Amino acid sequence: MNKLPDRTVERLSQYRRSLLNCLSKGKTHIFSHEIAGMHHITPVQVRRDIMLIGYTGTLRKGYDVKELIDLIGKILDTPDGQKVAIIGVGNLGQALIQYFSGKRTKLSIVAGFDIHPEKVNRVYAGVPCYHLDQLQDIVKKDDIEIAIITTPAEESPRIAEMCVIAGVKGMLNYTPKSINVPPHVYLEEYDMTTSLEKVAFFVKKNKMM
Ligand code: ATP
Repeated sequence: MNKLPDRTVERLSQYRRSLLNCLSKGKTHIFSHEIAGMHHITPVQVRRDIMLIGYTGTLRKGYDVKELIDLIGKILDTPDGQKVAIIGVGNLGQALIQYFSGKRTKLSIVAGFDIHPEKVNRVYAGVPCYHLDQLQDIVKKDDIEIAIITTPAEESPRIAEMCVIAGVKGMLNYTPKSINVPPHVYLEEYDMTTSLEKVAFFVKKNKMM
């Protein structure tokens, strides 16, 4: 399973969300072309991804929705779930806390960290906000594996370093400044401005055509 390509892992997460939606509507079986249609990709891609996790459907009925959801869960989740911290409880950090609050997922945001006296020692949607100085202690105490960085950009390299020292195993950097992490830490960077500018570019290009 360690060999699963990054994009396959991403798509499995996306398939699971659509499959859960199908299941809630009473659909018990699904064909690869139906999953493909929902995700704007080819049925071959879907079959390849699902084969990589060792599952095959039947020609007549396709995949068993519930079985596939459970199998993706076994691949993506850990049995006890994983704990997440938000570093920088500003507008974006608070929005993420709100977004994930109460969602039934194996990922739970259990702590926020900030340096602003108005943020520290407050509780946001049930999530306590600690001072950054407490990072190492709380990461250890709460067994936090993942950090989401939503501080101002210039702070992110220092925050990333602190997270590594604290023992965080994976980071999602929401700031536009790239960070470095050692090989044993998994890093995902998401720069909203670049994504938005990319969309804006194609909107402009399509208007000129
Ligand atoms: P707000 O107006 O509530 O501060 P914001 O999203 O406009 O929100 P930003 O300047 O983007 O604020 O900062 C995001 C958050 O990161 C803020 O809550 C800020 O206090 C916090 N922050 C700034 N520097 C650090 C740091 N070194 N460590 C942890 N948090 C930090």
